[in-house]
This record gives sequence, C-alpha cells and structure tokens, in this order.
Amino acid sequence: MKIKQNISLKEKNWFKTGGTTKYYCEPKTENDFKIALNFASKNESNIFILGKGANILVSDNGFDGLTICPQNKNIKIDNNTITADSGVEIQELIDYSLNNNLIGLEDFSHIPGTIGGATYINIHYFDKFLSDFLIKAKVINKKTAEIIEINKDWFNFGYDQSTLQKKEYYLINATFKLKKVNEIKTAYAKGRRDEIIRYRKRQYPNQNTCGSFFRNFHENEVDLIINNKKMTFVAYYLDKLGIKGNLQFGNAQISYKHANMIITKNNAKSSDVIQLAKKIQKLMLDNYGIIPFAECQFIGFKDCPLLNSNYKQHRNNYSLLPHQPSNEHKSVYK
Ligand SMILES: Cc1cc2nc3c(=O)[nH]c(=O)nc-3n(C[C@H](O)[C@H](O)[C@H](O)COP(=O)(O)OP(=O)(O)OC[C@H]3O[C@@H](n4cnc5c(N)ncnc54)[C@H](O)[C@@H]3O)c2cc1C
Repeated sequence: MKIKQNISLKEKNWFKTGGTTKYYCEPKTENDFKIALNFASKNESNIFILGKGANILVSDNGFDGLTICPQNKNIKIDNNTITADSGVEIQELIDYSLNNNLIGLEDFSHIPGTIGGATYINIHYFDKFLSDFLIKAKVINKKTAEIIEINKDWFNFGYDQSTLQKKEYYLINATFKLKKVNEIKTAYAKGRRDEIIRYRKRQYPNQNTCGSFFRNFHENEVDLIINNKKMTFVAYYLDKLGIKGNLQFGNAQISYKHANMIITKNNAKSSDVIQLAKKIQKLMLDNYGIIPFAECQFIGFKDCPLLNSNYKQHRNNYSLLPHQPSNEHKSVYK
C-alpha cells in the first residue's frame, strides 16, 4: 500500500470544500491498516479516518497528518447475520442483504457513507438506529495496531454516540443481525427501500451538503412541549426562523428543501460554512435561548470552530421572522 503526500480532500467530501492532507492511504486489508498506523506512529502524525466524507467539514488549511481512507470492501453472510468491512457503502450493504432475503437495514436507504462512518455516528432515520442491528465488530487500536473483536456493549451506543468517537480505535468490520424472510417479504422490503429513496430524493438536497448539520437536542436542553413531548427536533426551530433557502454566507446557504441542511455552491470555502453555521447558532440563541451543536465532524481545525455552550455575548443584527411557537407539529422533522 502506497502512502501518498499532499492529496486534496476537496473532491473526497460531500461539501466539496477544504484543503489537502499531508499523507494519504487506502488500506484494503488488515495488514494495510497496521502499516498505516505504524507509519503514523513513526512520523508522529495525527490520524483521520475518511469514509465517503458525507458527515465532515475539512478545514480550508487542510489536515496536517495521515488520512486513512478504508477500501476494505468484503461482505459475508452467515445464516441471518451479515458482516461488512468498514469501507463498504451503506447502500451496498442494504442491497446485498435484500438480495439474500435478509431484511432490516432498508430504513437506512439512500444515507450516504460507509459502514465505518455509519457506526462512528450510529446513523439513524426517524426511530431506527444502526445499533438496533449491530451485534459485534472488529476494531484496531490506534496506538498498538492490535485488532480485537468486541460485542455491541463495547460501543456504548446512543443518539449520535459511539465509543469510536474517542478515536482510540478504528472500525475494521461490523456484523449485523437481520431477519431471514421469504421472497414475498423481501419484495415488500425492497419496495420500502425504493419508496424511502424516492422520498429522500424529493425531501433532501443530494449533493454539496453533509446532511443534517446540527444534531437534535437532548430532552434536558429544551423547554418547548408539543403534544406532551419535548420538541427536540432542531429543524423545527430552524424552520420557524424562516431561514430555509434564505440565509447564506459567501457561497454557503441553507437548502430550500431542509432548514438543517447547509449546501455549498461552486468555489465555496469551509469558512463560508462555518460563518453561516455561526449565524444560525446566534439566531437560535436570540430567538429561543438555545444553541444547536454540530452533528457534522470538523477535520483539521484546532478547536471546534462553532460557538460552544459558554458563548454568552450575542447580538441580534439579522432580519428575522418573529418567534411563533406553534402547538401543531405538522411537518416531519429528523
Ligand atoms: C444528503 C445526506 C443525507 C444524510 N442523511 C442522514 C440520515 O438520514 N441519518 C444519518 O444518521 N446521517 C445522515 N447523513 C450523514 C452521513 O451520511 C452519515 O454520518 C454517514 O455515516 C457518514 O459516513 P461516511 O463514511 O461518509 O463518514 P465520513 O463523513 O467520512 O466520516 C464521519 C466520521 O466517521 C469517522 N469514521 C469513518 N470511518 C471510520 C472507521 N472505519 N473507524 C472509525 N471512525 C470512522 C470519521 O473519522 C469521521 O469522524 C446524511 C448525509 C448526507 C450528505
């Protein structure tokens, strides 16, 4: 496996922004992963694991370390379990399992990314989480390059949460327990997959975005109650601000399809996305007294480039729609 130098990350992430990485490699085997980690250790390099770049924003100054982009792509079936390497794309795994009469994962249809990135954030769609299906996995230790097998508990999964986020281990593969069904039930599941894909194509922007930019709130972070439930969907509050398709900074703007999705235009910089996201945070603070936090992962930045919970000083210098809390929850947010 070749370790390359000064590779642009711009075309390797969905925002299509950001600078170069000092070193870059594409491991295909467990041994390649070990070679990559040993190289990083020898060169005292920071490490960034890149999937399809569907949930990241890369600094305009790039990443001063080794970017490892897993290209291990095996899928193996054993009865009702399926094991996929970290470099396998989510949709590829869904299609493969459906073609083998294994159902369950189809709710994640059309979510871009790899099994590595999906496990890192514990992808979710409405009430379904990847952790509902994952039963065990193989991970490699960043410092020792030792590969260990672990079970689901190790991950300490939650909403947008997994042990991988400590960045001490990287995912090599993951095993999912699915449901073995007959041809008719498989046909229904395939229909559901196709319908979800159609819906998502209509509902969300399909390029130059990282999907939902901010994570939803935890119940203890919000006061608003609708239908006896805390309103935790960040898109609900963003919609009320009237920013959909309206707010922009430089070449980054809020999608007209979804208030929690930032899209970039030609020649956008990552700094445009950051400035726009900060604008949104300030609007939320001014209108609702709460700051949304990013679901998007920041790569190559020294500190988190957004406002954090200590942010106190804020000004209201944007033209806003008035805050109109509603008791109706008509739209569907995720
Ligand atoms: C249009 C659009 C729609 C989306 N819709 C959804 C949605 O409905 N639900 C949802 O949950 N997400 C959604 N997302 C977000 C994104 O698809 C997921 O977060 C996905 O899992 C990212 O995978 P990736 O391979 O691109 O990871 P990347 O963006 O490349 O990386 C994300 C993080 O995962 C880490 N990582 C990647 N591989 C590994 C590994 N092998 N081991 C350890 N860490 C690793 C990276 O270091 C990084 O910190 C959407 C994104 C887009 C662009």
